[in-house]
Amino acid sequence: MSEYINALTICAYCPNTCRPSYAANEDVQIESQTPSALSLITLAVLKKRLPMDEDTRAALGRRAAANASIGHCTYGLNIPVALDAALAEGTPA
Ligand code: SF4
Repeated sequence: MSEYINALTICAYCPNTCRPSYAANEDVQIESQTPSALSLITLAVLKKRLPMDEDTRAALGRRAAANASIGHCTYGLNIPVALDAALAEGTPA
């Protein structure tokens, strides 16, 4: 398993323990925009269970919570980097 797949798999099943790092009153608290949600969506794309269509690209573009998680991840992961690596290698342009 590649390093970024491992990171995304850990994150996809994490209960967002980095949540305190993103602002309580902003949209980033929406469940579908958490790092965990973005990781799960990306894994679904890589496994071809979800098409990389306009909606998927828009969902994966909502990075505010993932960006805020950097330095606050329980597992020491950098999820934006893992997302970028996965999407660069595993999806059609
Ligand atoms: S970034 Fe870390 S703490 Fe946050 S949801 Fe992912 S694995 Fe959990």
